[in-house]
Amino acid sequence: MSSPKPITIIGGGLAGLTLGIGLRRRGVPVALWEAGRYPRHRVCGEFISGHGQAVLERLGLLARLRQAGAVPARTALFVRGVHRSPVRLLAAPALCLSRHKLDALLAEAFQADGGELRLNARWTAAEAGEGLVCAAGRRTQASETSPRWFGVKAHVPRPGAATFEADLEMHAMRDGYIGVNRIEAGALNVCGLFRVRAGGGPPESKLEWLRGDPGSPLRERLRGAEFDPRSFCAVAGLELRPQRALDRTECCIGDRVTMTPPVTGNGMSMAFESAELAVEPMADYSLGRVDWPGARRRVAQRCDAAFARRLAWARRLQWLMFSSALQGRWGAILLRSDGLWRFLFERTRR
Ligand SMILES: Cc1cc2nc3c(=O)[nH]c(=O)nc-3n(C[C@H](O)[C@H](O)[C@H](O)COP(=O)(O)OP(=O)(O)OC[C@H]3O[C@@H](n4cnc5c(N)ncnc54)[C@H](O)[C@@H]3O)c2cc1C
Repeated sequence: MSSPKPITIIGGGLAGLTLGIGLRRRGVPVALWEAGRYPRHRVCGEFISGHGQAVLERLGLLARLRQAGAVPARTALFVRGVHRSPVRLLAAPALCLSRHKLDALLAEAFQADGGELRLNARWTAAEAGEGLVCAAGRRTQASETSPRWFGVKAHVPRPGAATFEADLEMHAMRDGYIGVNRIEAGALNVCGLFRVRAGGGPPESKLEWLRGDPGSPLRERLRGAEFDPRSFCAVAGLELRPQRALDRTECCIGDRVTMTPPVTGNGMSMAFESAELAVEPMADYSLGRVDWPGARRRVAQRCDAAFARRLAWARRLQWLMFSSALQGRWGAILLRSDGLWRFLFERTRR
């Protein structure tokens, strides 16, 4: 019998590392190229919600996240101006762990399973060759596109007197939304998505953005809270329009296929899920049961089938977050609607 063909993965974020672990468990040789190193902070709400938790469970990793201090989030609250939703129970608890811990934990697991991890190793070749999976994260928006989307995040290590009514609070405003949730060691993660329209410049201090509008409930809650400057990170030019994996010439997973709007809290889950969907086709290719174009096509078909519907609903939810419908009398009605909440929560995850 010939030995299994190796798989090369570009990108050691959640999707790349999860695929690497899944393939190692099937005896496939894997080399993973990661441009950075671990641990590192990343722009992320650090709120894992959706089927991705089951993927981690199947890989035996969920218990390790809990040991690392992951905190369950059971309730959520939405605030927009003077309107707010009731504190609601999430249909299924989310799990909150900093990316600083999570990515390092997965990298350790990948290496423990015999994966070859190349750190500070940026893949620069242009070709989408055989045996190559691209998990290099989000694509950037074309520079002339308006609005420009920014993501910003920072931790508050000692929240002190800052009090929050729900495990996840989402504060929306005219040009952005900010999520706040507890992570390990009693810290808070504060993470926002913001838009800057054509002609508008970036803010003077992106950290200040995270405190919310002057006079807002969020600013009041965070009064006196100090951000850890080492945890601060920002990304610009996020491409939020849904894409199809079948339109790609290369084999890709995670945000490299498409990014879901952060308000869904489902992007990490999609990274884990897409990695799991890729394991079997990639293992079959490695063992010579299917050729490369066939394996690549199967990964793309599986991802599109799994994500198309939830991406369409995520797009509508993202529109709603920025629409004037959330202001005024309609805002009060929509935020209080249990049916709408349950519907959107379910549709952006399944
Ligand atoms: C503001 C904001 C808030 C968010 N909040 C949440 C949330 O609360 N819940 C949630 O589930 N999701 C959230 N997300 C989405 C989530 O962060 C992503 O969906 C997830 O990180 C995707 O994982 P990935 O592995 O595909 O990409 P990434 O995690 O981005 O990993 C890609 C990796 O590839 C590496 N890389 C890139 N290019 C190369 C190269 N050429 N060679 C080698 N390595 C390379 C990078 O260094 C990186 O480590 C949020 C996103 C944003 C922007």
